[in-house]
Amino acid sequence: MSRAADIRPTTLAGLLRAGVSILSEGGIQNAENEAVWIMDFALGTSRLTLRLEGQRQVTAEDRGRAMELFGRRAAREPLQFILGTQEFCGLEFEVGPAALIPRPETELLVEEVLRHCLAVPHPIIADIGTGSGCVAVALAHALPSASLYATDLSPAAMALARSNAARHGVETRVVFLTGNLLGPLRRRGLEGRVAAVVSNPPYIPEDEVADLPPEVGSFEPKLALAGGVDGLAIHRRLLSEAAEFLTPGGLLALEVGLGQADRLRRMATAGGGYGRIRTKPDAAGIERVVCFLRSVE
Ligand code: GLN
Repeated sequence: MSRAADIRPTTLAGLLRAGVSILSEGGIQNAENEAVWIMDFALGTSRLTLRLEGQRQVTAEDRGRAMELFGRRAAREPLQFILGTQEFCGLEFEVGPAALIPRPETELLVEEVLRHCLAVPHPIIADIGTGSGCVAVALAHALPSASLYATDLSPAAMALARSNAARHGVETRVVFLTGNLLGPLRRRGLEGRVAAVVSNPPYIPEDEVADLPPEVGSFEPKLALAGGVDGLAIHRRLLSEAAEFLTPGGLLALEVGLGQADRLRRMATAGGGYGRIRTKPDAAGIERVVCFLRSVE
């Protein structure tokens, strides 16, 4: 236990100071801001309140609640799991240990599917490995005439995704199916009818999983991260399984990690079934999304 965690601050300012020390001792870079956010969440005290009313007394109960959260964050639990939400595509998503926390670069994936589907009347879209449901829900929200199918192997992730769909009022337009990749879409008459298959599959190469920051490696689900020996094991399967469901000219949009876009493109060219292939860089300049258009026979 750290020294900062042992002290019993009696004022808001003292509690904030203790929080900053506990987080810093835990190796958190942004300790000042995170301590403020945690206090806001636990006690409802804004940054301004902390500045203007720092000498206000805190109850033992409030102190206990904030100190517990400071401790969890110092143990490197992601801030989003502590606060319970993450913003994605302008919408607030519930998050938890059942699924990956939505990442800003994944908004690019949504953007590419949107661009393609805006021109399609009543598009059918399949989100494979939906996790928190962020991609499927953001698409359903932006495309009121679209029907979505969202699959995931994890029943706990499915429950989270369903709850996020309900939160944003799109639960009647997203069909959630528990199962492996595109498997649950079979025998539903969807073959050749899907305008876009989208996925942010796990893509961390197996031998790099151990080097992930503790927030990711120890708290987010392995199933959502590890992508086999080269990180592209699931992409390979999606390339071969998706074509049968896509309309001619339909889009397969996949997220990849650093340095994987070229290899994926070569794989698709060798495998056939797709015509045009494009890659899109994220804000950091990493080729992050690869788009394949199904060949028009
Ligand atoms: N589709 C979800 C997301 O983009 C989950 C992705 C995953 O678990 N690999 O956040």
